[in-house]
Amino acid sequence: MKIVVARMSGFCMGVRRAVEMILDAPETHPGPICTFGPLIHNPQVLELLASRGVRTLEAIPDRGEGTVLIRAHGVPPETKRRLRESGLRVIDATCPRVVRVQSIIRRHARKHHAVIILGDPEHPEVVGLLGHAGERGVVVSSLAELERLPPFPEAILVAQTTQNTALFQEAVAWVARRHPHYKVYRTICDSTERRQEEVMRLAAEVDALIVVGGKSSGNTRRLFEIARETGKPAFHIEDERELGEIDAGLLARCRAIGITAGASTPNWVIRKVILALENAVYRRKSPLHKALYALMRAALLTNGYISVGAAGLCHAASLLQGISRDTAAWVGVAYLYVQSMHILNHLTGSRADRFNEPERARFYERRKVPLTAAALACGAGGLCLALWQGTVPFVLLLAMSLLGLSYRIAIWPSRLSPRGLRRIQDIPGSKTVLIALAWGVVTALLPAIASGRAGEPAAAIAFVWIAALVFVRTAFFDLLDMQGDRLVGKETIPILLGERRTRRMLKAILAVLIAGLPSATAAAGLPAIGHLLALSPAAMLAVLLAWERGAVLPGVRLEFLVESHILLAGALALLWGWAAG
Ligand code: SF4
Repeated sequence: MKIVVARMSGFCMGVRRAVEMILDAPETHPGPICTFGPLIHNPQVLELLASRGVRTLEAIPDRGEGTVLIRAHGVPPETKRRLRESGLRVIDATCPRVVRVQSIIRRHARKHHAVIILGDPEHPEVVGLLGHAGERGVVVSSLAELERLPPFPEAILVAQTTQNTALFQEAVAWVARRHPHYKVYRTICDSTERRQEEVMRLAAEVDALIVVGGKSSGNTRRLFEIARETGKPAFHIEDERELGEIDAGLLARCRAIGITAGASTPNWVIRKVILALENAVYRRKSPLHKALYALMRAALLTNGYISVGAAGLCHAASLLQGISRDTAAWVGVAYLYVQSMHILNHLTGSRADRFNEPERARFYERRKVPLTAAALACGAGGLCLALWQGTVPFVLLLAMSLLGLSYRIAIWPSRLSPRGLRRIQDIPGSKTVLIALAWGVVTALLPAIASGRAGEPAAAIAFVWIAALVFVRTAFFDLLDMQGDRLVGKETIPILLGERRTRRMLKAILAVLIAGLPSATAAAGLPAIGHLLALSPAAMLAVLLAWERGAVLPGVRLEFLVESHILLAGALALLWGWAAG
């Protein structure tokens, strides 16, 4: 079964902007911080916000304290005024597209035009719009209600920004026939329109549609209505646990399933649904397929796969530097170091793992003791191997290990760190940079130091190549985890630079690596394997482009493919070694 995910699924611009504003609020506005009504219809997001001290205000208090954020839906002007009068500072996160509709309504209400709003009368956005129309506003939710309205000498017709476009078209056609003097404003948000059009296109490609999002989210419910109207079996689920309520036989018969999600659905919820479907697909495959899939998952969860990749990279870096002595020991050190650090990293993992990688979080939660023992044994084993090779490499590896262990530990007292930078982890983007540097040191520099070649250009080239390759890998995973990371307060490279700039930067680094390694190989007279190793960043670039086009979805397969480009370098080095005899 093929899984196709709509490109326009998950947070829209307005919701993303409101989430960003509330997360930035504690730094710029007086506390306590609260939102007027739940920010979005997702219990996990609300729980996360609550854990960061953001409460939900359900009614306007007599005397307010701190700051209140108005959601993307907007509110009536009267509500905003009363919030201010209560003493609260107000941050207005009304979506700019909703603001535009509000100002159209105000302009015409001032000129005594009647304002007809096609929308759900209970929806907060419509309540807000009606507030801007004053006494001249009227809400209709169907064509029948529109037809029952009395004629107005002057009137405008607008729609809730997330209204069903087909229904709005019918309303527009009716107005054109019966009251051609009414002015019509096409106020359905383009994000909503494109989402709805995409569902219809998707329906033509797949056998069933799954709409993910809160049952009380208006735009998700409308997406579901549209999905149902296409005639294909359609299901509305809030999260992956509700997949069990769908007829398993029907899913099994589908050759392709389409997934779309409402504007307030976090991307990790969509990812969990994809992962659950992926698991279900493999459960129905042949025993060989099932075994391979289980092996793939185990290799990723235990970090065995990436540790083998580190060992392979070390072998490749040694060949690139012309080092042939004791490479097996350094390959072992690289494997043990990466295995130990990755296990410890996940064991002490942040709360973001619960959202970004729930399967991994559960795996580590349940096996804390054996995994801690394995991590310590690997760390100690790596240090012993390094000591056997020499004191300087041992001290360097010990320093790298201590740096890794102290990553989440508060080093400076809070009074000496007014900006809250108490741990290395608190330095924005530090994780991605440190992992890249650590891999460069362990896989390229340690063998160079031990063989007395650390001062040669080959060592610098191998170090930069590996650090850049690993930087791209880690930053790519950070890209996938952006929403969860942002909500728990992690400042990764994509959060600092933004998604689009990060993608551009990663592609640029990969392009430089693809062209740069063969050039550096030729210029510095390195072994010809340098030309071959350019295939590794080329493979990562292909994965990145495939992910951007939606050809590979976030899940086990994507993670496996990303890690495979690291292993590819090791495989190429092995082949090269055998071919060279
Ligand atoms: S659906 Fe459109 S109008 Fe509504 S919040 Fe999102 S971007 Fe804004």
